[in-house]
Amino acid sequence: MRIDVVSIFPEYLAALDLSLIGKARQDGLLELTVHNLRDFTTDRHRTVDDTPYGGGAGMVMKPEPWAQALESMQTGRRPVLIVPSPAGAVFTQAMAHELAQEEHLVFACGRYEGIDERVLEWAAESFDVRPLSLGDYVLNGGEVAVLAMVEAVARLLPGVVGNPESLVEESHSDGLLEYPVYTKPSSWRNLDIPDVLLSGNHARIARYRRDEQLRRTATRRPDLLEKLDVQTLTAADHAVLAAQGYAIVDGKVAPVAPSSSVSPSSDA
Ligand code: SAM
Repeated sequence: MRIDVVSIFPEYLAALDLSLIGKARQDGLLELTVHNLRDFTTDRHRTVDDTPYGGGAGMVMKPEPWAQALESMQTGRRPVLIVPSPAGAVFTQAMAHELAQEEHLVFACGRYEGIDERVLEWAAESFDVRPLSLGDYVLNGGEVAVLAMVEAVARLLPGVVGNPESLVEESHSDGLLEYPVYTKPSSWRNLDIPDVLLSGNHARIARYRRDEQLRRTATRRPDLLEKLDVQTLTAADHAVLAAQGYAIVDGKVAPVAPSSSVSPSSDA
């Protein structure tokens, strides 16, 4: 895969030299280049911003340096142009999987109040333009979002993560959060790991982990439950969900009022 990142702070992306992503680059699994947007300016001051039309606070990134930068990255094919923005669709693991299938990704890191909107319109001629948000909060620039998105995508490329099985059981891979994990010692500061993990019984361990996934998702991210494909749920899953206050309603997992075990008094 080829990745180009354009930023006015290329040093910010130095972390992409480290760890598994750095190794993937060394091993030739990922061809990643960071470009300085100022190298595509033509004035003495290497200006990339100007005041906003219509007034208001802050500065806006000028369109021409972006056009020059993006034109230098055009290939015969249609690369995906990711424009990090708090006003974009929220980036998800499903998108990371989809982007990992692409040959060429270009990331445009905004700063100030963002990039002149016409750049996105213009770029749509030659790029598949996707404004993507890291989450519902505002950062100072797109670089942190790019670090996160590149890492999420690149670790899915074949050969980047040593054991590909570790990608299968992760949070969000099957719509649920991952189960809790433990390592040695089995007893630590008066806290013991669940006995089942020492049982050697793989079926029981798998069931325990699935239960924990369902419980954890119900507690921490109930919004994910309603997106679950109910066809994938077993009778044992239904029982765990019921204990958490969920049932299948109209083909979706939905919260239900807890059933009272106390019968109403006859003289009430
Ligand atoms: N005025 C913009 C708005 O309210 O939508 C925010 C601009 S922000 C200060 C500057 C840049 O940071 C954005 O152009 C974008 O590149 C990046 N950024 C900020 N928050 C982000 C987020 N949640 N996800 C992705 N990128 C973000």
